[in-house]
Amino acid sequence: MLNAAQMAQIIALRRAIHERPERSGRETATIAAIRAFLEANTTLAVEDRSGWLLATHREGDGLPEIGFRAELDAIPVEGTEDGARHGCGHDGHAAILCGLALMLEGRRTGRNVHLIFQAAEETGEGGRQVCATWPEIAGLQAVYALHNIPGFPRNHILTRRGCFACASCGLVVRIQGRPAHAAYPAQGANPIELLSRLALETPKMIGDILGGEDRLLMRTLIGLRAGGENFGLSASEGTLCMTLRGHRQADIDALADRIRAAASAGCADAGMTCEFELRDVFPDTTNDDRVYDDAVARFRGAGLPVRELDEPMRWSEDFGWILQRAPGMYFGIGDGEDCPGLHTECFSFDDGIIPAALAALEALL
Ligand SMILES: [Zn+2]
Ligand SMILES: [Zn+2]
Repeated sequence: MLNAAQMAQIIALRRAIHERPERSGRETATIAAIRAFLEANTTLAVEDRSGWLLATHREGDGLPEIGFRAELDAIPVEGTEDGARHGCGHDGHAAILCGLALMLEGRRTGRNVHLIFQAAEETGEGGRQVCATWPEIAGLQAVYALHNIPGFPRNHILTRRGCFACASCGLVVRIQGRPAHAAYPAQGANPIELLSRLALETPKMIGDILGGEDRLLMRTLIGLRAGGENFGLSASEGTLCMTLRGHRQADIDALADRIRAAASAGCADAGMTCEFELRDVFPDTTNDDRVYDDAVARFRGAGLPVRELDEPMRWSEDFGWILQRAPGMYFGIGDGEDCPGLHTECFSFDDGIIPAALAALEALL
């Protein structure tokens, strides 16, 4: 564990990162601050991977390779061009990983340890970027990530065998019809009925896909916009936006396919055309059984409080991209029942959970 002076250093680093929040994909000052900290305080090999930072503790060839990942991005401040604030606690996660870097100093773990400081978690791009630009990630025997989680007992480790957090994506369906005078709507092609049908029929599609199996697959209606307020004109274009969310990526893919097929068939019948777009794609964050069992045994062995969740989290996490490449495990550290929710205006990372988070990471070394 860190001594008091090192802990004070980590808290000061966390506050410095907090003071300079940067939006997803623009974390240059954050990366520079972490790089400067690691170079000043550790002997890790620090590598700028254009857009993210890799710091490696190397003990030798032929040893098992493991990784730990933290995020760097802040969330946008609504209604501003480039305003950002650390409303998800990534300032804390980045500082915690720097605390692990201090703990690795002069230590023999029998493994080579890679610290991954990734950008752009909030958009789902950063995990993908790490996988695309660092193929060696596939050689890791285990990769870990943690997140602070409000609403759960403070300092408790929260995790789950199998799916920890849902897959999700935004689906946009755009339909182009033909305008007509409101007195002769049959002369045009009005997309409103088809868009409404798509919105209303998705629960039935979900039922068909799940076939009675007990796992989550849902759609949230995000937006429906069509036509205008000119009462002489039949609508000729419209857009439906839905968020698809579920325990398995394959279910979401199947649902998106059905929605596309229904939209395409409806458009073909009515002489309209449609376009689809997927946005904010996050795969499911599913823990590897072997890594999970080992980690939970280590946590319990170190006397740390572990709570295994009954249900996966409904939110999504872009660590799912990394878990598609390497076996790994994601877990939470409880912020306390009274802590305001992530992304809410009142939320701010609580330095008081840093020791518990570091104890969990140390147990994994
Ligand atoms: Zn977030
Ligand atoms: Zn987050």
